Amino acid sequence: MFKPKWWMKNVLSIDEDFIKKNHLRGLILDLDNTLSMHGSPAAEEGVMEWLEEMRRLGIKMRVLSNNTKKRVEPLAKKLGLEYTAFACKPLTVGISRALKKMRLPKNSVALVGDQIFTDIIGGNLKRMPTILVEPFHMEDKPSFKLKRKLESAIFKRDYSKLK
Ligand SMILES: [Mg+2]
Repeated sequence: MFKPKWWMKNVLSIDEDFIKKNHLRGLILDLDNTLSMHGSPAAEEGVMEWLEEMRRLGIKMRVLSNNTKKRVEPLAKKLGLEYTAFACKPLTVGISRALKKMRLPKNSVALVGDQIFTDIIGGNLKRMPTILVEPFHMEDKPSFKLKRKLESAIFKRDYSKLK
């Protein structure tokens, strides 16, 4: 129930070999921490190019997020993806709705997300393949570290002591 079928570093690791080997025809994609950092209005680096590559392979994609339409719509539009918001994962109702729109059998679609308790359990309840990705962490970004350093210098505060 809690176990993803596959575990990956991030969506960018889903490549042509993987798609072909596992006969996938579609991907249902979580938004926050899967395609972008939580709350960020932009996609993570490389995501746009990765989406293009998936499209080239003929992969159908759809965003499925528990977040609100207000959060999901602008970014989904930017990414050129259809979306289902307020999906209520791990309940399967939103997943079912997304699959219906995609017109693909569920065993040919992988549900991709960063959270076991919503994405993975949802996909497992629906009995479809699941991919757990590690969330994008702002703290790991060099740009964020630089920002912190600058903040420390400017405000004379030692952020390293903060949890
Ligand atoms: Mg997420």
